[in-house]
Order: sequence, then C-alpha cells, then structure tokens
Amino acid sequence: MRLYRKNCDKCNKPSFSSSEYGEWLCPVCGHDLTAQPFFDAVTFEQLYIKTLSGSTSLSFKGKEENENGITR
Ligand SMILES: [Zn+2]
Repeated sequence: MRLYRKNCDKCNKPSFSSSEYGEWLCPVCGHDLTAQPFFDAVTFEQLYIKTLSGSTSLSFKGKEENENGITR
C-alpha cells in the first residue's frame, strides 16, 4: 500500500493518506486539499494521478461520440 502526502497551502502542514480517491481535507485546519498535487510520502516525489470522476466521464463521452460516428 502506498502512502500519499499533500501540503496544505493554508496552514502549511503536511497531511498523509493511503487513498488517492475522494475528498481530501486538511486534518489541521479543514481546508479542502482535493485539488492539490499528490506527493509520495517516502520520496516526496510529485505524483500524477487521474481521479476517477474526471477521467471516466471524459472517456465515456468520447466513446459515445465515436460509436455514433462509426455507425453507417
Ligand atoms: Zn491546513
């Protein structure tokens, strides 16, 4: 299991979680960190993670259009 880290831009405190999905609120001040970039908790490397909600709706829309185009 991977541990993720985000930095709160309001109180500048790091917070940790093992889940990349759902809302992420700062445990210290309650600020919404969902849109903040993910960092690896061990290496502090920035990670690029596509959240479920954004990618699925986009690909579903594209697939629908593609199917319509293919039909005779
Ligand atoms: Zn905070």
